[in-house]
Amino acid sequence: MTDCTHPRSRQANRCRACQLAYLNSPELADRRREGLARHWSNPANVMAAREKIRAVTAATMADPVKLERKREHGRRQYRDYLSRPDVVAKNQAPEVRKRAGAKASATKLRDIPPAMRDEYKRLIRSKLIPAAEAKQIILDQFKRQMGARAAG
Ligand SMILES: [Zn+2]
Repeated sequence: MTDCTHPRSRQANRCRACQLAYLNSPELADRRREGLARHWSNPANVMAAREKIRAVTAATMADPVKLERKREHGRRQYRDYLSRPDVVAKNQAPEVRKRAGAKASATKLRDIPPAMRDEYKRLIRSKLIPAAEAKQIILDQFKRQMGARAAG
């Protein structure tokens, strides 16, 4: 079944060394990567994972003991790591702030097409249109553009 000829446990396909080599082999890494890509390309799996995380977060927020444990963890993180001068300097570096901002925008505005995010911000900041309404305006505009592109 396998090419391992070394002494090994009964019922094992390979000895420990051969099994480790197999688990770290490029072929298996490719298969693993393909499997993950296949799994996460299915929107149902993405939605299920989101829902699971949402449920776990809600359960944690509803449990005072777990919530206090999380708060304590946050305080410990700040005390032992985040308040260190080298870490503060690193986190305030302009390129890090820029990357963090872009990532936060990408998350918060994930429903707004990237090319229309400035227009969306203009609607909610200058025109003071409520976010849900502005989102609907932008998405309608986007659909019209896509329709025009498909027709023209
Ligand atoms: Zn072996």
